[in-house]
Amino acid sequence: MRSITEMTDVAGQRVLVRSDLNVPLSDGRITDDGRIKASIPTIKKLVDAGARVIVTAHLGRPKGEVKPELSLAPVAVRLGELLGQDVAFCEETTGSVAVAAAEALQDGGVLLLENVRFDARETSKDESEREAMATQLAELADAFVSDGFGVVHRKQASVYDVAKKLPAYAGILVQAEVEVLGRLTSEPKRPYTVVLGGSKVSDKLGVIDNLMNVADRIIVGGGMMFTFLKAQGHEVGKSLLEEDQLDTVKKYMAMADEKGIELLIPTDTIAAEAFAADAAHDVVSVDAIPADRLGLDIGGESAERFAAAIKDSGTVFWNGPMGVFEMEAFAKGTATVAKAVASSDAYSVIGGGDSAAAVRSLGFADSDFSHISTGGGASLEYLEGKTLPGLSVLEVS
Ligand code: ADP
Ligand code: MG
Repeated sequence: MRSITEMTDVAGQRVLVRSDLNVPLSDGRITDDGRIKASIPTIKKLVDAGARVIVTAHLGRPKGEVKPELSLAPVAVRLGELLGQDVAFCEETTGSVAVAAAEALQDGGVLLLENVRFDARETSKDESEREAMATQLAELADAFVSDGFGVVHRKQASVYDVAKKLPAYAGILVQAEVEVLGRLTSEPKRPYTVVLGGSKVSDKLGVIDNLMNVADRIIVGGGMMFTFLKAQGHEVGKSLLEEDQLDTVKKYMAMADEKGIELLIPTDTIAAEAFAADAAHDVVSVDAIPADRLGLDIGGESAERFAAAIKDSGTVFWNGPMGVFEMEAFAKGTATVAKAVASSDAYSVIGGGDSAAAVRSLGFADSDFSHISTGGGASLEYLEGKTLPGLSVLEVS
């Protein structure tokens, strides 16, 4: 990959940076600024070199519509605090207002553009639509730096298409992430345990068969556990379930058996009356989940079994909380697993926005883990050995 360190004559140049500023928000407040912090080194390096920095990023999934609650405006403020300088904010993603804002930048100045996903072309499957958007983004700058590791697995206008229209380089964060993940793919210390949880069930289920080529052990918690439990013949009540993935999951279970991969599935869960912080809840065995309840965390027995497997690992990669950790009543499973990872001697990597937010909100320090990756899906796809479009487009041909 061409690297930001190879950029020359940066002073006075306008550089478009794709960052990952997709932070969790609660009532307009940033609850974990880890991703903003992770984007600082690249922006700072360009600022110090006298570049005029134009940052583009997304927040949440506005699906091509302007959603005021997903505006990046509060992020511009926090970015400015962390950089120690004012960050201008442009309410447009591209177009004449953005061009004018970019032209108004001084050397060493920073501009953040509005949520790039307010424009439907950003994530369009139609290449010509993405291209049109990328052309407009490219008009803003002389060079492009790709630093949003969390999105490099996406073929999107601000990630992939724009990199073909400008001299394009990998930023410091993208380079660092690729280095760490490289360590996980080439001769990882064994046993190698992958812990999967979270809520993007179908996204994450899809990666399991590929992970079986690298991992010795796969631990399943979070929302996807219920599709496994159902496949084992259990009733899961109102828990998150992807019926259409049952056959896939059964195939995985057979495959794990065949390959001698240990697949750890919960034996107990915290079953709640509703998806609410104050909902009545009990720990139940997975063969006794009441029909009117939903599982919002793994149970204590499962958490201990998972913790033991983690402690006995040489390498651990974890993506996806074990339960709805945002609610105290359903955070214990995630806390137990986090403690096991933090106290193990394994080379440990945590990937995913919510997973990183979870360990931080539970009081763990970044230094408790070998690396906290900003990318969830991107890390998983990298580990599967897939070609990530946002990385391959930066390769020197
Ligand atoms: P990451 O961002 O780390 O990749 P995800 O976005 O896939 O993780 O999932 C995080 C979300 O999963 C959290 O908001 C958490 O509340 C939710 N979650 C975890 N377990 C469950 C469950 N059993 N039912 C519903 N949601 C869950
Ligand atoms: Mg998430």
